[in-house]
Amino acid sequence: DSTTFAVRVAPLGSTGLVLVLAEDQTERRRVEAVRRDFVANVSHELKTPVGALSLLAETVEGASDDPEAVRRFAGRMQHEATRLTSVIQDLITLSRIQGAEPMAEPALVEVDSVIAEALDANQLVADAKDIELVSGGEPDVVVLGDERLLVTAVRNLVANAVAYSPDGTRVVVAVETSDGLASITVTDQGIGIPPGDLERIFERFYRVDAARSRSTGGTGLGLAIVKHVATHHRGEVAVWSQEGAGSTFTLKVPLPDPKERDSSGITTTL
Ligand code: ADP
Repeated sequence: DSTTFAVRVAPLGSTGLVLVLAEDQTERRRVEAVRRDFVANVSHELKTPVGALSLLAETVEGASDDPEAVRRFAGRMQHEATRLTSVIQDLITLSRIQGAEPMAEPALVEVDSVIAEALDANQLVADAKDIELVSGGEPDVVVLGDERLLVTAVRNLVANAVAYSPDGTRVVVAVETSDGLASITVTDQGIGIPPGDLERIFERFYRVDAARSRSTGGTGLGLAIVKHVATHHRGEVAVWSQEGAGSTFTLKVPLPDPKERDSSGITTTL
């Protein structure tokens, strides 16, 4: 990687002296490249379903005398519309968290109800694959955070666990506490992630297998959202995985410490 400098020269009044400013451009260029990639990816992810929709609309027009074909094309249009909605929804979520002040409005959140809601949202898809969703771990754990965002993060992790697992397996969501942190783990018996991809899966739109991700309705933004939710809570997310055996994602969120609880004005009888 080469380093680039932008040099600016400015005369200092009538002193005859000049001011030379050298500014490191490397970081600015990197940020610019990431932004350009992101915009290109967003355009692609939006254009694909829109293109498919207009093609299907044309086709359905030509098939108006064949009710069975019309029904089939209408189903595919529904599918593309759903996909478009997911991408837009994930983009809105991502831009909301990215722009938000970390822990702007912290509240006490019961982890059990976060997990219950996240499992509930995935129950139908899990049932269709005969995948058992199980919750466990310490009861009555409370964290300081944003309930809606935590549900979104755990829901995304469970959705992935279900999507990347074979039929008839089990997904376990559990919570443990230690060292001032609550660790929420989502463990599956799925396909696993190759070691070379592990570092990149939290990037926006990064997919190990794009075809597989799309066929299960993935937007490529799920883990980027999880990572931002973790950062927003001043926590972190970690992954352990073995190809062919399964994966465990751990979302770590700080437990409310007594001092913080006082200063945030929240009182509780824990
Ligand atoms: P996607 O919408 O494609 O699932 P994510 O950001 O949620 O996007 O995940 C990025 C990629 O990481 C996925 O495309 C998939 O290849 C991989 N991945 C995520 N979770 C799992 C998992 N539990 N098991 C195997 N692979 C996973």
